[in-house]
Amino acid sequence: MTAPFTRSADVTHFINGALVPASSGRSQAVYNPTTGAVARQLQLASQEDVNQAVASAKAAFPAWADAPPLRRARVMFKFLELLNRHRDDIAAMITAEHGKVFTDAQGEVTRGIDIVEFACGVPQLLKGDYTEQVSTGIDNWTMRQPLGVVAGITPFNFPFMVPMWMAPLAIATGNCFILKPSERDPSPSLFIAELLKQAGLPDGVFNVVQGDKLAVDGLLNHPDVKALSFVGSTPIAQYIYETGARNGKRVQALGGAKNHMVVMPDADIDQAVDALIGAAYGSAGERCMAISVAVLVGDVADKIIPKLAERARTLKIKNGMELDAEMGPIVTREARDRIENYIAIGVEEGASLVVDGRGHKVESLPDGFFTGGTLFDHVKPSMRIYKEEIFGPVLACVRAHDFAEAVQLVNDHEYGNGVACFTSDGNVAREFARRIQVGMVGINVPIPVPMAWHGFGGWKRSLFGDTHAYGEEGVRFYTKQKSVMQRWPASIGKGAEFVMPTSR
Ligand code: NAD
Repeated sequence: MTAPFTRSADVTHFINGALVPASSGRSQAVYNPTTGAVARQLQLASQEDVNQAVASAKAAFPAWADAPPLRRARVMFKFLELLNRHRDDIAAMITAEHGKVFTDAQGEVTRGIDIVEFACGVPQLLKGDYTEQVSTGIDNWTMRQPLGVVAGITPFNFPFMVPMWMAPLAIATGNCFILKPSERDPSPSLFIAELLKQAGLPDGVFNVVQGDKLAVDGLLNHPDVKALSFVGSTPIAQYIYETGARNGKRVQALGGAKNHMVVMPDADIDQAVDALIGAAYGSAGERCMAISVAVLVGDVADKIIPKLAERARTLKIKNGMELDAEMGPIVTREARDRIENYIAIGVEEGASLVVDGRGHKVESLPDGFFTGGTLFDHVKPSMRIYKEEIFGPVLACVRAHDFAEAVQLVNDHEYGNGVACFTSDGNVAREFARRIQVGMVGINVPIPVPMAWHGFGGWKRSLFGDTHAYGEEGVRFYTKQKSVMQRWPASIGKGAEFVMPTSR
């Protein structure tokens, strides 16, 4: 099977096991960012469509929650097999709507599949705890049960991987799931739905609602939606967290980032250059774990900036389907213009523009949403290009005198998603990992995205809520704990007990 949904003109919902057109009559264009052409139309949900999806999930919940975890795991195993068969179809679908290079999209697919593999172990993950004889003749155990209908709202930059942070664990733990994907690259969501159906998932357990704020608000305010997972920008994450909590829902809302990479004077400079170039310009900087600030300690700046400049100027920027491409286009024309506007702001603020990516053209693709790699030096913490998330291929270099100043700089920033430190000194590395106020730390690893069983999440304004995405934290998020105490008539004494029961 090839990817069927990328060929259809309109992208619709997937509710109760079938493609369902939107009832709103509203739609919006989905672009191919490489050519700049409209590729298809996305139908946008009305409140009625959201209600229909929630009703279908609610109806499917009792039977699915009751299915033995092993049976749910078997659906995951089948899904895993189908995903492996279609990895490149999914990667091509991502490149077509997002623009990231195909090899990077393949990496995204693999990291999403990792979580499905983790979810296949759900019988083990749901085992619970048991204590025999908490008091004479009494046993106590805890178990984890699903919440009901849960929803996921996802960003454009990982249209396959981020839904996989949520749906496999939500479903494997017995919930019914509604995905509201990004409007920019919605096609993978329908392919996921199709593969889950082929894997034997009962209708209604996984649904897709396409849409914008109206769909999100519909989910946030629906009394039958018990939990929401969100990944996207910080202002929306905060809105989702506050509104969801006010409505009595469990919420995890992962927000934006401004990730620093500290380069110590004892680091291998060529390794640091490779790391910065890949982490700042890979996926055109449209990663929540992209490095957007290089903190250059001591004399590092003068050694590293000329090398970074040369590499930034010669990035291979082209159609992401060409296998030697290093960077593709930006997702939309508006996003490209926003990034280029930030570059103008940086110049006005007095930063040194070493490489200017504005106006970059790819000859054969004159209407594609391309921009080049940009490099700033002498960036100061007071500047907007330092404080705000640009979400594009713009690397800001800040000079720091010593390790303590570098750590302080990172800790003072409002975001705390990812961070890296390049050093060959074990003690510096250890102190960095201990002191830094950031959720995900790389020591000589520029993009430390945790593996499927460790969980993903930032600190400060990069995450609202208590639990990280996926891993055991994900299992806890999608289940509630129940504690059961049991005794049988033979061990029940005579008479009413008026004192607080204690172990006897
Ligand atoms: P976004 O916040 O614009 O959109 C995310 C989702 O929210 C989409 O599904 C969108 O339809 C919905 N949405 C947008 N505006 C809304 C509104 N006013 N009310 C309700 N819902 C709304 O983010 P994006 O541009 O798609 O993605 C890029 C952002 O996501 C960056 O800030 C990036 O750092 C962040 N991100 C964070 C992580 C993480 O793990 N922390 C991972 C990936 C992306």
